[in-house]
Amino acid sequence: MNVVLLGAPGAGKGTQAAVLTKQLGVVHVASGDLFRKALSENTELGLLAKSYMEKGDLVPDEVTIEMVLERIRQPDCAPGVLFDGFPRTLSQAQALDEKLDGEGKRIDRAVYIEVPEEELVKRLSGRWICRECQTPYHSESSPPKVAGKCDVCGGELYQRADDTEETVRERLKVFFSQTLPIVEYYEKQGKLLRVDGDRDIEEVSAAIARLLEAGNA
Ligand code: ADP
Ligand code: AMP
Repeated sequence: MNVVLLGAPGAGKGTQAAVLTKQLGVVHVASGDLFRKALSENTELGLLAKSYMEKGDLVPDEVTIEMVLERIRQPDCAPGVLFDGFPRTLSQAQALDEKLDGEGKRIDRAVYIEVPEEELVKRLSGRWICRECQTPYHSESSPPKVAGKCDVCGGELYQRADDTEETVRERLKVFFSQTLPIVEYYEKQGKLLRVDGDRDIEEVSAAIARLLEAGNA
């Protein structure tokens, strides 16, 4: 099964991905994590991506598509992939469909997690992420058991440089202008599932599980 998680920055894609990958037995592929890994390794790709990421702009399609398609060629992705943060433009969505089509595969479902803008800003300003396993936490809504340490792997928690209010506002603008058309793209294909993401993490997880189950019936 291949599933796309759609939603504005802060909607809870990474949070829900942790639950969903276990339920579906698929691999979590988050384009933002791939860029941040490249950046931490000081690769050419990382340095190129940095200039866009720090402004809250999208990294050019060509580079992004190549990076993600390369990742899903790895054998661990064979059982299926949960895409998070990709696709973010219509060109990326089309390139992904073409690639999967060429292999006799497809995107089965696109889950759109909807959250009001002010809540997104609140979530991102309190977000902490594990440097090792990327698990997201929130200082108020989902704090770690031990301050500064990941519950899952004990890794150090940090705040992303692009989670400042100014960059967040820019990222939200980019989402509404460039990524929102993808919602319609998947809706026209009859693959879209909308979920109200403005409630507790567990309630959102349960709603997604119900929708995916009903969609498969
Ligand atoms: P995304 O991957 O969509 O950018 P994250 O999963 O990283 O979003 O979540 C953004 C922030 O909001 C994190 O700090 C996370 O702990 C918190 N969060 C996620 N889901 C919820 C929720 N349903 N209610 C409150 N806070 C949440
Ligand atoms: P994220 O971790 O999904 O919030 O992404 C962080 C940043 O990485 C974004 O603001 C973009 O600069 C870049 N990025 C991640 N995914 C993509 C994508 N699919 N297309 C273009 N840029 C991306």
